[in-house]
Amino acid sequence: MSSKNSVMVFIQQDDGIVSEVSVELISKARDLADKLKVKVAGVLIGDGVAKKCEDLYPYGVDEIFLVEDKRLAHYTPVPYTKIMVDIIKKQSPQIVLYGATTTGRDLGPRIASNLKVGLTADCTDLQIGDYKFKDSEYKDILYQIRPAFGGNIIATIVAPEKKPQMATVREGVMKVGTPNPGLKGKVTPVPFTFSDSDFPSEILKRLREEKLVDLKGAQVIVAGGIGVGSKENFKLIYDLAHTLGAEVGASRAAVDAGFISKDHQVGQTGTTVRPKLYIACGISGAIQHRAGMSESARIIAINTDAEAPIFQIAHYGIVGDLNDVIPKFIKAFKAKQ
Ligand SMILES: Cc1cc2nc3c(=O)[nH]c(=O)nc-3n(C[C@H](O)[C@H](O)[C@H](O)COP(=O)(O)OP(=O)(O)OC[C@H]3O[C@@H](n4cnc5c(N)ncnc54)[C@H](O)[C@@H]3O)c2cc1C
Repeated sequence: MSSKNSVMVFIQQDDGIVSEVSVELISKARDLADKLKVKVAGVLIGDGVAKKCEDLYPYGVDEIFLVEDKRLAHYTPVPYTKIMVDIIKKQSPQIVLYGATTTGRDLGPRIASNLKVGLTADCTDLQIGDYKFKDSEYKDILYQIRPAFGGNIIATIVAPEKKPQMATVREGVMKVGTPNPGLKGKVTPVPFTFSDSDFPSEILKRLREEKLVDLKGAQVIVAGGIGVGSKENFKLIYDLAHTLGAEVGASRAAVDAGFISKDHQVGQTGTTVRPKLYIACGISGAIQHRAGMSESARIIAINTDAEAPIFQIAHYGIVGDLNDVIPKFIKAFKAKQ
């Protein structure tokens, strides 16, 4: 099998560390490629990153096209676009996937515009299926699925006429497959000749701000909504989170009201999470919130309104005032310890 018609993933690295979303995408690409009976290809661009390839084979990538150069250590749009366009033209993948990260959101449209192909942004699911339009029938094309119209509908977008079909995919929505150490792949170094005009900009200094909130990595999340009532009362949410060793999440309404900062927001325009336990306090469960947490293994909801939509997806529901319930919760948990 050649890489022609493959499902290709742009493997994003930052400071030599492969981003989690790239591993998620390789896992998803494996599923899609198995349905299409083609290979999974990856493109890894950076400096001194060849050793990372071994870690990626167990997730199902068959061949990694590797481009290394000191000047490629960090993402810069012009040379990265040029390399990707060149590899795509030579390898003719049928699908190319990017993480919907700052880098993927910058790189994807540049490549789409260069190749004059479509790109669907921020997908939350990808499937393979057929499509009929007027007299034309298309077999095995990529269904690019994402919320649209403010999250009120889930749209399936197709771009059947031009290849590759390209999509950026939200971080955290695709499940990382179980690594299989028996899977082996190969690296194909791609020599690249650059001219100075390929580097119109230069990175002089990189400033990194440490992430203070790690919603994606949290096993337990206690999230508060507008029902918490005030910024001061969010202390209750923090108290419960500290008691359980949990991270603090929030609905957009709570963020918009200034109760808590945006990096705590869960949902369609926040972070997608999949913890072992998600406790939703004073959150109604709007579709845009559920889009970011409905895959949690266990959901507990505390709400005064027995009809709140959150109870439709909660495994355990407590109808009551969070001001009464949370202190009892903390007391009961401490008593058990
Ligand atoms: C394009 C778009 C993107 C969006 N993205 C997101 C997103 O990423 N994340 C997100 O969360 N939202 C998002 N939203 C907003 C979303 O539609 C809802 O408005 C929001 O989730 C509501 O937040 P909430 O549940 O805190 O507030 P509400 O819907 O007002 O619910 C508050 C709940 O608190 C309960 N309550 C009140 N007092 C108490 C009490 N004392 N004890 C217990 N329960 C109580 C009420 O019964 C109610 O159910 C988005 C909207 C749009 C249009």
